[in-house]
Amino acid sequence: MRYTPLEQVRSLYDVIVVGAGLGGLTCANRLAAAGHSVLLLEHHLQLGGLATWFKRGGHIFDVSLHGFPYGMLKTCKKYWGKAIRDAIVQLKSIVFDNPQFSLRTTFSKDDFIRILQERFGVCQETVSAFFATVDGMNFYDDQRQTTRELFDRFFPGRSDIHRLLMEPITYANGSTLDEPAITYGIVFSNFMNRGVYTFEGGTDRLINLMASELRAKGVDICTGAKVDRILVEKGTATGVAVKGRTIKARSVVANAGITNTIDQLVGRDQFPSDFLGRFGKVRVNNSSCQVYFGIRRGETIPDIGDLLFTSTAAAFSSEEMRRMDTGSRTFSLYYPKTRPQSPPDYTIVASMNADYDDWAGLDQAAYRTAKETMIARCFADLERYLPGIRNQVDTVESATPRTFHRYTLHTKGTSFGTKFEGLDISRSLHKEIGGLFHVGSVGIIMSGWLGAINYGVIVANDVDGYLRG
Ligand SMILES: Cc1cc2nc3c(=O)[nH]c(=O)nc-3n(C[C@H](O)[C@H](O)[C@H](O)COP(=O)(O)OP(=O)(O)OC[C@H]3O[C@@H](n4cnc5c(N)ncnc54)[C@H](O)[C@@H]3O)c2cc1C
Repeated sequence: MRYTPLEQVRSLYDVIVVGAGLGGLTCANRLAAAGHSVLLLEHHLQLGGLATWFKRGGHIFDVSLHGFPYGMLKTCKKYWGKAIRDAIVQLKSIVFDNPQFSLRTTFSKDDFIRILQERFGVCQETVSAFFATVDGMNFYDDQRQTTRELFDRFFPGRSDIHRLLMEPITYANGSTLDEPAITYGIVFSNFMNRGVYTFEGGTDRLINLMASELRAKGVDICTGAKVDRILVEKGTATGVAVKGRTIKARSVVANAGITNTIDQLVGRDQFPSDFLGRFGKVRVNNSSCQVYFGIRRGETIPDIGDLLFTSTAAAFSSEEMRRMDTGSRTFSLYYPKTRPQSPPDYTIVASMNADYDDWAGLDQAAYRTAKETMIARCFADLERYLPGIRNQVDTVESATPRTFHRYTLHTKGTSFGTKFEGLDISRSLHKEIGGLFHVGSVGIIMSGWLGAINYGVIVANDVDGYLRG
């Protein structure tokens, strides 16, 4: 899709949205629907942010389309329309395979209740009490209880159950057992509602539908437009500096990471010290590594599940999951049903959690070697489920925290924004600088596809109120 050249955009808008991740796209869509003039500026050549894809060797690889909760159906229907909602379909086969257990599940609450009782021998009262507790958690609850304490309360000494309950969430948002239990509970009960869903047609179709919707509503979209500065005058956001141009706006929404927004786009000198004190405590989440496998056209692979949580580690450990030599990864299997309108194609994506600092300092030779070692480990793991797969693969590509940093500019290539404390900073930005808002992955709850889209709606309401106020 072709977008508007930067030279052709107007010099004044009601709102400028900096960044076209799912949060920025949704915020722009809602604000345009409310009648505001909107300019969307994206640094990359493609929209979507981390919700992205790329073409290699005749295959299309999805980067972050591994699964999202049922809530996406309602959210997309309400805020993006029927075509997007109708393409959301369930992934029915989620597989766990590790030294403690191997099982297949629909990843729904009913199935987990059954598994916890039949497979792990937990009595019905304990299972019900656990689900009642996590379902009842909300954002304003006590934040002192950790997820570890929550698990120990209901399933003491059961590291196998802790792994079943925690491993997918650690992949989904980087959280650890030592973070507030509510950040676990809210995300877990979202997912545990009615299973895991995906977008039929792939990420490219979703983002193209979103872009069409935005253009139909009159949003001006520029790609390859890295914003250098958000302009602030007398405590109020007044526009942006981008590629030597100044574009004015009555409000600015940053979909860049919250740390980049404050440190680089606005500058710390614009904020009071008490705010900076709170900001100083914000920790960014870990990053990711991925290995992408394309299967030669005409070849087929058997159904081994849609999402495979595999690990050779003896027990769950979020530290182990981030190590360069981790034995824990997810394999996402993309069968021809992923893109039913296209010629049959099979791709497989291995995803690992990762720390930026492990990869950042490597020189080119060491970096290349580390990537090759990672690919070899993924191949070896995949062979356990698909013997002979090496002979069927015609395309291999890999991504590291450096890749995620390059394409999104996120601090330390973070995949899931910041830890919990980032939410307060994101929500209070407009109280420090008039007309400046932030949308994007913060605080675990607001990250992921559903979290980012929902947050886009919330922030659009804030901006609309500000503009009409
Ligand atoms: C490997 C991986 C797998 C994932 N898997 C899943 C999954 O299965 N399910 C799920 O729900 N979530 C998943 N996620 C998380 C999910 O993709 C993200 O939480 C979500 O897409 C983030 O949206 P966002 O609105 O925060 O913006 P982002 O996607 O972070 O986008 C921010 C945008 O801002 C742009 N930008 C930054 N600075 C500037 C600037 N100065 N000027 C202009 N533009 C700028 C960036 O280029 C980017 O496009 C995954 C993430 C990763 C990395």
